Amino acid sequence: MSLLRPDDLIRGVGEITPEFLAARGLRGLLLDLDNTLIPYHSYDDYPSSQTWVTEIRSAGIRLALLSNATHRRAEQWRGRLELEGIGMAGKPNPASFRRAAQALGLPPHQVGMVGDQLFTDVLGGNLAGLHTILVHPLIDNALPHTRLARLLERRVLARHGHAWGPEVWQTPDREEPSQ
Ligand SMILES: [Mg+2]
Repeated sequence: MSLLRPDDLIRGVGEITPEFLAARGLRGLLLDLDNTLIPYHSYDDYPSSQTWVTEIRSAGIRLALLSNATHRRAEQWRGRLELEGIGMAGKPNPASFRRAAQALGLPPHQVGMVGDQLFTDVLGGNLAGLHTILVHPLIDNALPHTRLARLLERRVLARHGHAWGPEVWQTPDREEPSQ
């Protein structure tokens, strides 16, 4: 059960600051793409995430994309966000998380996995010994297969004492805090 427990649960990447990372001993981040950095399926600019990536990188944090999106989609955003990393990562297979952490040149415990899904991002990250950070999904894409996963996520997180689901994600002040 603890493999499905995120180390941190936050609203969005904007809450991750250099201070947040220093307090947890993290020097690198593996970033999920869809619904973590960019709304699912979107190719539109998403300035808050693009600015955040630039700021975190300039603070000396090593970043890489770890996405299950198609190579084509991951490659597009990789270029636009100027990130290393891959698509079709095969999450939650912990081997891809370990490889990605290794590519950053950091031991697993100094790397955070940031994503919006418990059964891919958090499970794989925990299996690989990373620090796992669960974010609210940027949009609630209620695809049939996602819907079941979301239902199960809600149950697991409720057991850990966290409210989870559209009514929580859609709270008005989900944008990054003003500091
Ligand atoms: Mg995602």
